[in-house]
Amino acid sequence: MIRDSLQLFTKAPVHRDESMLRIFTDFDGPIMDVSERYYQVYLWCLKQCQQPHQATKVLSKSEFWQLKRAFVRESKIGQISGLTPEQGRKFALLRRENIHSLPYLVYDRPIPSAVATLERLQDSDDVDLGVITMRRWRELEIPLEQNRLKRFFRCDRCYCLQNDDPKNTDTEDKTRLMKRALTELPPVRETWMIGDTEADIVAAKTHDVRAIAVLSGIRDRDRLQQFEPDYIVQDLAAAVALISERSTFSKLLL
Ligand SMILES: [Mg+2]
Repeated sequence: MIRDSLQLFTKAPVHRDESMLRIFTDFDGPIMDVSERYYQVYLWCLKQCQQPHQATKVLSKSEFWQLKRAFVRESKIGQISGLTPEQGRKFALLRRENIHSLPYLVYDRPIPSAVATLERLQDSDDVDLGVITMRRWRELEIPLEQNRLKRFFRCDRCYCLQNDDPKNTDTEDKTRLMKRALTELPPVRETWMIGDTEADIVAAKTHDVRAIAVLSGIRDRDRLQQFEPDYIVQDLAAAVALISERSTFSKLLL
């Protein structure tokens, strides 16, 4: 099914140059700002779980996002917002069922500096760009199309969950997707992974790929540091600048 969908992309010539530099990037965090989606789901779940006339403390978006980036559990966020522990558990369940649903994905926005960076990478003959994301295909295809991001990713460089794949933990799924990418794609001289979560870092380190964590996503520096990425930088633009400085392809990207 996914192969059929992927045919929607424009085919580009296959590079088999082993001197290529390959950059994998996660989608949510490095490229897409998902904070508004997460906040809208939070507001909706809170409303669904509270009793009529129950006093709650609705967090501001920045308060909510700070907790989220510090990896505070959903049930705890519910309780901080005034729910009982039992309501907090229901809140967490409801949130999990809705966070990746299509009605809320419309709140996501591309990070402007990320788009500018992708445009620069597109102009480089030495960079092979791929995306590895926990999104299902239907959740990836729509934003790629709607935000004019499809032009940056070849059909055979998009690694995501198929629409009917069972979902395991993010770390398990991302590590598996990266293994598949590394097995299927022609070998290159250097590979880097850019991501915003522990799953991105663990997947990269499991496969001896250099990991750059970015702070433009859903985790803060303290959380990311626990997983010991090779580098932590602000965003995709800074990550690509760092690769340009540190890789054996120095200065080729900018
Ligand atoms: Mg992410």
